[in-house]
Amino acid sequence: MAEPGSRIPVILFLDFDGTLVPIREHPSLVSMPVSSRRFLQKLSRVPGVRLAVVSGRALSDLKKRTGVSGICYVGNHGLQMEGAGVRYLYPAVRRGKRVLSKIAREIRAAVDGIPGVWLEDKQFSLSLHFRQGSAAGKKKARKLFFETVRPFVSAGKVKATQGKEVLEVRLPVGWNKGRAVQWLLKKWSPGRSVPACVIAAGDDRTDEDMFRAISPGGISILVGGPGVATRARYRVSTSAGLYRFLKELQRQLLHSSR
Ligand SMILES: [Mg+2]
Repeated sequence: MAEPGSRIPVILFLDFDGTLVPIREHPSLVSMPVSSRRFLQKLSRVPGVRLAVVSGRALSDLKKRTGVSGICYVGNHGLQMEGAGVRYLYPAVRRGKRVLSKIAREIRAAVDGIPGVWLEDKQFSLSLHFRQGSAAGKKKARKLFFETVRPFVSAGKVKATQGKEVLEVRLPVGWNKGRAVQWLLKKWSPGRSVPACVIAAGDDRTDEDMFRAISPGGISILVGGPGVATRARYRVSTSAGLYRFLKELQRQLLHSSR
């Protein structure tokens, strides 16, 4: 971090899938290209820069796939955070693990045998993936998912959310990517005397919470086409476009620090 008064700190909150790496048919196929990893590593070491990768993935999975050292990792939509002086687990999640395991067993049994549909147990949340399923398979999986989850949702034990080609079961905590971002901002820029330049980029619904959390002063960037409704102030159509922006940012920061 820069010494006070030397330059404006830059805080970056970047989603992983669909933002830093293109989405693949199966989340396990996603890995960060060496060139991207090297670039992010360099960017994270520019004086004054704080970098956090913010994802719905489990923390350990996110860290392994990103592979950049010394940065902050935010997993499970903010429930777990680690790195760059941060170590955090949302207090209420331990209790929810048992009910999630029960639901995981029920969903697995319900969708068993539908090709291309599979459940990922992320410890503090569940994801039913069906990117590789047929149209009929997806429809069936969606129906079975909601039938299975509904009693637990009605009882207030969990909530069900939808993303791109994924249905998720999450604990009904008042916490999300946006709240995690606010928590980190408080930690990283406690005083108002040094205003930070805050940038957030993401491609999915859950990233809208980040965009809200950094408004009105922040720079929010949606990675996606013109058809996607968003509250982000800026838009790039692909991950490549985001990297062009980040490279230009890095160039400017290095230039201004000379
Ligand atoms: Mg994403």
